[in-house]
Amino acid sequence: MLYFHIPFCKQKCSYCNFHFSTSLNLKDDMMKAIHKEIDSRHHELTDKHIKTLYLGGGTPSLLSVDEIKALLDKSAQYYDFDSEIEITLEANPDDLNASFLKELSKSGVNRLSIGTQSFFEDDLKLMNRAHTSGEAEDSIKRAQDFGLENISIDLIYGSSSMPIWKENLQKAITLQIPHISSYALTVEPKTALAKWIKDKVVKAPNEEVQNEEFYYMSEFLKEQGFIHYEISNFAKEGFYSKHNSAYWKGQPYLGFGPSAHSYNGGNIRSWNIANNALYIKGLVENTRNFEEELLSPKDQLNELVMIGLRTIWGVDMAKIQSTFEKDIQEEFLYLLNSKKEEGLIVEDSGYLKIPEKHWFLADGIASDLFLV
Ligand code: SF4
Repeated sequence: MLYFHIPFCKQKCSYCNFHFSTSLNLKDDMMKAIHKEIDSRHHELTDKHIKTLYLGGGTPSLLSVDEIKALLDKSAQYYDFDSEIEITLEANPDDLNASFLKELSKSGVNRLSIGTQSFFEDDLKLMNRAHTSGEAEDSIKRAQDFGLENISIDLIYGSSSMPIWKENLQKAITLQIPHISSYALTVEPKTALAKWIKDKVVKAPNEEVQNEEFYYMSEFLKEQGFIHYEISNFAKEGFYSKHNSAYWKGQPYLGFGPSAHSYNGGNIRSWNIANNALYIKGLVENTRNFEEELLSPKDQLNELVMIGLRTIWGVDMAKIQSTFEKDIQEEFLYLLNSKKEEGLIVEDSGYLKIPEKHWFLADGIASDLFLV
């Protein structure tokens, strides 16, 4: 699978600490650099058959459709696209105007992940989003009108009250969205939101409310025919994100663009420098500014557990037995038994799973199993 990080945004959302720039001055140089990175690194992915390609960011919908197509064409020079390839574009509602969507619907992009976050003006203002509640709704209808029906929307819970949250979810149902990714509003250091909370301009998100909203969402969306297939992700049958599912199953991927991560499917992970100017400079000088991490067997097991326990598929015990040395397995089983006794993990046909009623605590449960 391939990932492209497009590091530009119109404005800075109050809660966001991703890598991006709000100046588009370097956009042309950036696109040239990403093309050059594809030329120089395509061989790192040994399987040339590609089933998913994902344009994320940042805000890749700030690119023109020609720039998007050029990235797809460049990738197709080196890879053989599966006949059912999933090509996702992350998009913000304010970019999805009719002329963009018309061109996009003919570009090869066949899935949109729209940064809706909320259908309510007060939430959007708190988040400092660039779109209005009207644009949140209209962008979805317009995309559907142009035949782009494989749509995921992002929704953030924990930013307002339960009645508003219920209406947000109901709106997604009314709009016939087949995939929802939903995350709790979190307060990251050095964000505007962190400062507003510190200055008592707004209240910090309440974890109890978030907990209630999470379980309400899970129950409500299941009643509406969604499958809760990963802690933060819900899909109608046939609309799972192929890209994220492959990532959760430990498939290798190659990431291009500043701050993009790559993984060889085994013990090597690398990530490009999170600085637009230095990323471009490196490629102009035929060097890649990146860091690399060699994952020890314990790191690999921790990751397998961390990711697997967040999904309905769970963690394959047979894989643990066939991949890791006996002493590592024993250390892991010792920790695992205490979680089983507490009822926080069950073994179901050879797969370790967290019962859904404890999913809100999944990251904490998984980290208690980490080997150090
Ligand atoms: S659009 Fe996305 S990446 Fe850009 S600032 Fe907002 S949340 Fe962050």
